[in-house]
Amino acid sequence: MSERAVMDVTTVAVLGAGTMGHGIAHAAMAAGYRTVLYDVSPAQLDRGQAAIDAVIHKGIELGKVAADDAAAMRGRLRLATVVAEAVREADIVIEAAPENIDLKLSLFRAVEAAAPAHAVLASNTSALSITEMSAVLANPGRMGGMHFFNPVHRMKLVEVVKALDTTAETIAVMEAVSAKMGKETVLVRESPGFITTRINALIGNEAFYMLQDGVASARDIDKGLKLGLNHPMGPFELVDLVGLDTRLSILQYLHKMLGEKFRPCPLLEQHVRDGRLGRKVGKGVYDY
Ligand code: NAD
Repeated sequence: MSERAVMDVTTVAVLGAGTMGHGIAHAAMAAGYRTVLYDVSPAQLDRGQAAIDAVIHKGIELGKVAADDAAAMRGRLRLATVVAEAVREADIVIEAAPENIDLKLSLFRAVEAAAPAHAVLASNTSALSITEMSAVLANPGRMGGMHFFNPVHRMKLVEVVKALDTTAETIAVMEAVSAKMGKETVLVRESPGFITTRINALIGNEAFYMLQDGVASARDIDKGLKLGLNHPMGPFELVDLVGLDTRLSILQYLHKMLGEKFRPCPLLEQHVRDGRLGRKVGKGVYDY
């Protein structure tokens, strides 16, 4: 069945048109899929479409995308504000709504009620339990995780997550769709934070503790990791991109699930209380 299911994917529905959702939708369009982008907020859908256009435009400027291909790509996108409409013809649904378990559970209930029975359902959650999400489904085997990275058009990896009941067919579809989007995959058995979020949260939290303790300046901690350890970005540059509020909620979850070593640093909590949420608001650890 996996061969047939993989070959049959023509339509991708992406739920949530924010930072990740617009990037995943762009990757689906570029891979040649009919793509439906859904959001509860029409304003966010407009912003998402503008962000997709900006990435396509950049591709044209850099000579990576031909004008004809860009027009065809844009023609493959449809916007939706009603979830049942968004998923009705989907072969795979990729959810990129806010990192809130109750919201995701109710969204997947609505998706299962409206999507075709063969459709694979995937969540882009950074740290929440895919098994908990799949448990609300009549067919939990159709659900798994596809963890993309920000910005999607530049980042090569998708962590494919196997929940307790995820079938081999579901994994094969998620891997094949990722590959068609030009991504490498790693297969991870579900555990909090998978591979990358778990390690990254620990490094980023330790960086805040070092800043709090006055070990070094933010610039020098970033410089140390870039030039000494060959990280492409420093931990503070990265958290400003990810969002300090997003990072804090991930740490709170990992702390609850994996214990004391993930307790969020007070200085990070203070930045969030101060509204220093990162690049998206013009100020985080650094000012923009
Ligand atoms: P975001 O806040 O930028 O976007 C979320 C979007 O979801 C918004 O446009 C919002 O209007 C919309 N939304 C709200 N309620 C909804 C609903 N009920 N149905 C559909 N859409 C709804 O968030 P984001 O950073 O794109 O994160 C989305 C998911 O991806 C989260 O689970 C997050 O943990 C995960 N993720 C984020 C990153 C990152 O770097 N930001 C990386 C990997 C994974």
